[in-house]
Amino acid sequence: MLKLVTGAGTPMLQTKTALVEDPLSPDIQLLIPEMIETMYKERGVGLAAPQIGRSIRMAVAEADGKVYTLINPEITTLSEEKVLFEEGCLSLPGQYFSIVRSETLTLKYQDERGLPKKLRATGFLAIVIQHEVDHLDGILICDRYRKQQQNPKYKKLYGTLE
Ligand SMILES: [Zn+2]
Repeated sequence: MLKLVTGAGTPMLQTKTALVEDPLSPDIQLLIPEMIETMYKERGVGLAAPQIGRSIRMAVAEADGKVYTLINPEITTLSEEKVLFEEGCLSLPGQYFSIVRSETLTLKYQDERGLPKKLRATGFLAIVIQHEVDHLDGILICDRYRKQQQNPKYKKLYGTLE
């Protein structure tokens, strides 16, 4: 099992990741099942590479009974419709933040075989994907929460967000 990187001020968790150049390389192919296993053992619904100490653009996620391996994911559209959801994070044990997310998104990525994929996600899967892509951009929920608190639009909609 892989060791988790935790803590709000940890540079590994605040650094934008580099693209995965070859999804079929032995290194990446070995990492995928290890990340999925670690996600399950830690009882998470998503795990991004920086959380296990690798600054590369890949994550795994589970929603609606399906496991997703997201290599080089890129969100292509985000809906104007927002939802408020209390999120936790394996890198911030015991901490929860109400985060505003888009209800629906479209995503392009490569799967575990390196094949290009497009996905339209809504509801819980869309929230998990936005959380994991944030990790790959070096953004933690505590930082996003703080930023959203300063956004007058969200403040008006959700009060203090708490
Ligand atoms: Zn997280």
